[in-house]
Amino acid sequence: MNTIKTRGIVLKTQEYKENDKLLWIFTEEFGKVSVIAKGARKSKNRNFSNTLPFSFGEYVLYKGRTLYTLNEGRIIDSFQDILNDYDTLIYGSYFNELIDIAIEEGESHPIFIDLVKCFYLMRNKAIDLDLLARAFEVKVLKATGYGISLENCALCGNKINTADYISFQFYGGICNQCEKQYGTKVSAATYNGLKFLSKVELEKVGRLNLDMNTKEQIGKILETFISLNYRKKPNSLSLLKKF
Ligand SMILES: [Zn+2]
Repeated sequence: MNTIKTRGIVLKTQEYKENDKLLWIFTEEFGKVSVIAKGARKSKNRNFSNTLPFSFGEYVLYKGRTLYTLNEGRIIDSFQDILNDYDTLIYGSYFNELIDIAIEEGESHPIFIDLVKCFYLMRNKAIDLDLLARAFEVKVLKATGYGISLENCALCGNKINTADYISFQFYGGICNQCEKQYGTKVSAATYNGLKFLSKVELEKVGRLNLDMNTKEQIGKILETFISLNYRKKPNSLSLLKKF
């Protein structure tokens, strides 16, 4: 069977030849795939609107030798309203970029549902986008094998309630009996915040109340894990820091 049908989100697109588009779609069943959509840059083409960035839909793809070809797509939610607001545009781009960087081609991941959730949660502005991003980062790290150990010392494995140090080398909290190196000192609030984020469902992220310093420290720790473990550093969020 060379034809597959799967739900997916368009992570990014690129113009190709005169009227075609290259798409990177994060699919529910086949992970990230590269797809060519013939003629999709023409507004009258049937695949024009389901190939826009952020589109969430059901796609029928034909597997070629190097690329998939888009046969047809049915939009479930275009999420184009995300593009109309500066903050949701930046965060939405960041979520897509993080998936693009962290997930290899062809790997299926339960994190797909979390990405969809992020888009729905962003739309109803009731959520703190920063916290949503941090919780999503923790989930992406975990889904790709870089989960942070917070219930047990990352070195000796003893159970811990809290710790004042997180190791980047051993991926987690370090107890007072173990050597603290290749990491960073953290406050109790930061440690507890990370613990909460690693367990919470994305829709309940709003229950966490953090002061600015703690938020910043958690952001820096996750940014370090991300830049140490993936082949490329995401840069969408750096656009926010300019303001
Ligand atoms: Zn230990």
